[in-house]
Amino acid sequence: MIALTPALRLALVVLAPLLVMGLVRHVGERLWPAHLKRERLHGVALAVWGALFLGQALAVPALGGVATLLVNAAGGGLIRLPARGVGWWAGLAAYLLVMDLGEYLFHRAQHAVPALWAMHSLHHSDRAFDSATAARHFWLEPAIKTVTVWLMVGVLLRTPASVVGVYVAVSYYHFVVHSNTRLDFGRWSWVLNGPGYHRVHHSEAEEHFDVNFASLFPIFDVLTGAYRPPRPGERIQTGLDTGEEPQTVGEALVWPVRSWLRRPLGRLRRLAAA
Ligand SMILES: [Zn+2]
Ligand SMILES: [Zn+2]
Repeated sequence: MIALTPALRLALVVLAPLLVMGLVRHVGERLWPAHLKRERLHGVALAVWGALFLGQALAVPALGGVATLLVNAAGGGLIRLPARGVGWWAGLAAYLLVMDLGEYLFHRAQHAVPALWAMHSLHHSDRAFDSATAARHFWLEPAIKTVTVWLMVGVLLRTPASVVGVYVAVSYYHFVVHSNTRLDFGRWSWVLNGPGYHRVHHSEAEEHFDVNFASLFPIFDVLTGAYRPPRPGERIQTGLDTGEEPQTVGEALVWPVRSWLRRPLGRLRRLAAA
């Protein structure tokens, strides 16, 4: 066994997701593209990517796990998951399922509650669906998840750090889920989320609204009637049905404000015109 110094371990933690992202982006999406995707608005791709990349792509998947460990350290964890042996695997399965159910419920709320949709629509605004889309989330959303879903999971499950570590590593699979690749599980789409399945969720067409919410396991979509597997040869155009997309990093950083202000500003305008 190779002994890793803490500095080397930290380097691995940072480099591994970068490597996954790089492979998906520079190998998978080039050699095996789903179809010619639309161009991003000039400047948005690099700017948004650069500004939000470290926070979104690296820290957010880890934040869910860190929240569990912190809540556990503060005394949370009604059910203790086994730290070794065969039970460890059962605990891992339980943790993955419970975290994923939490993500699923939160995602459904993001589409059902207008104030949450105002933020989540930033993720859906990407007309050039690819691995960079995985990092396009409004900055406040992880904080909201921390005090809701992730807090609840920490209260429910006392989880070994090794299980949390595997969960964090698995979370980087979202680069693959959002990749512009032909990867599609067809009739097995109910087993694991993938680019073909998740692209339908990002469709700009009304007929695809409110389907395929799953983060890792589409079984939650199957159970709630929101399962819509991709069809052979189907070409999905992604983005918002309104065509809205941030043009600058600044717009991405204040994305929901314009939608929150739309009603009061409209009222003011009507009053001014009266
Ligand atoms: Zn969504
Ligand atoms: Zn997505």
